[in-house]
Amino acid sequence: MADEIEDLSGVGETTAKKLTENGYKSIEQIAVAATGKLMEDTGLGEKTARKIISASRESQDMGYATAKEVLEKKDEIRQIKTGSDKLNKLLGGGVETQSITELYSKFGTGKTQLAFQLSVNVQKPKKEGGLGKNALFIDTEGTFRPERVRQMAKAGDMDEDEVLNKIFLGRAYSSDHQMLLAEKASGMIEEKNIGLIIIDSLTGLFRAEYVGRGQLAERQQKLNRHMHTLQRHASTHNTAVLVTNQVMANPGLMFGDPTTPIGGHIVGHASSFRIYLRESKGEKRIARLVDSPCLPDGECVFTITQKGIEDK
Ligand code: ADP
Ligand code: MG
Repeated sequence: MADEIEDLSGVGETTAKKLTENGYKSIEQIAVAATGKLMEDTGLGEKTARKIISASRESQDMGYATAKEVLEKKDEIRQIKTGSDKLNKLLGGGVETQSITELYSKFGTGKTQLAFQLSVNVQKPKKEGGLGKNALFIDTEGTFRPERVRQMAKAGDMDEDEVLNKIFLGRAYSSDHQMLLAEKASGMIEEKNIGLIIIDSLTGLFRAEYVGRGQLAERQQKLNRHMHTLQRHASTHNTAVLVTNQVMANPGLMFGDPTTPIGGHIVGHASSFRIYLRESKGEKRIARLVDSPCLPDGECVFTITQKGIEDK
C-alpha cells in the first residue's frame, strides 16, 4: 500500500513534484480531488490525472465493500482489558481493535501508566483479557520506563523479560520522524505479531514544532495524515491503536480545568473512543468517556498503584 505520493503507481519524480508544488502533499488530498480541478491546479493531462486519482483512491481503500463484509470485519473486533473493570465497562469491554482510542489529560494524570499497562495486557492470552499479541510503542517524550513495565508484568505473574521483549519501542525525535515510524510500522505489525500500537504522545512534537498561528493549517494537515496512517493500520491489521494527547486551556473559559485536547477536530473525529482523565484523591483517577458514537457518555474511577491500573 502506498504511503507516499511517489509510491503510487504511475507517478514519476516529475509528476510527484508537480503535485506537491501545487499543494497536493498527501495521498488523501489527491484521492478526494476532482479530475478537472487536479488538472487545473497541476497542469497534468487528463489521462494522468485520472490514473493518479484512481491509484490514490485504491491505496486509501475508498472502494465499496458488501454489508456482509462489513459485518464480518466487525466480528473480528477484539478488546484489550485495562486492568480496571470499571474502566473496561465504560469502554464497552476494553480498548478495541480496528479503532483509535485517545487518552487526553493534564501532565501526570496517568496516560503513560495506562499505555504501559495495555502494552503488558495485550500480551496476555484471550481468556485473561489480552490478545496474545505484542505491542509497538512510539515514545515521543522519552518517558518510556522499562522498570515500571517490569513491575506491572510481575504483578500480573508474567515472565518479566519476555514481556519486555515483546514491546517494540521506537523513539521519535521530531514530528516527521514520528510520522515516518508510524508509516513504516506496516511491515512490523505482521512480522512481530502486533496487537496494539501506542503513540505517547500523539501531539507533543507537533505542538512544539508548529508554534505560530500561521503554521496551524500545516500542522493540522500533517496530523490528519498521521491519523489516517494509524486508522489504516488499525483496520487492515485488526490492531488496537492508543494515542495520548495533552490538553490546553480553553481560551473561552476563564476558570476551571483546561479540558481542550490538542489537535481539535482532526484528532477528535479520527478517534472512536476519547477518554478524558483527571486526578482525584491520592491514587484515584477519574476517566470520562467523551462523544462516543456508540456508547453512552459516562465516568468511572480507577486507581494507579504500584501493581498498575486497578479498581480498588
Ligand atoms: P501522564 O502520562 O498523563 O503525564 P503518567 O502516566 O506519567 O502521566 O502518570 C504519572 C503518575 O502515575 C504519577 O504521578 C503517579 O501518581 C503514578 N505512578 C507512576 N508510577 C507509579 C508507581 N510505581 N506506583 C504508583 N503510582 C505510580
Ligand atoms: Mg506521559
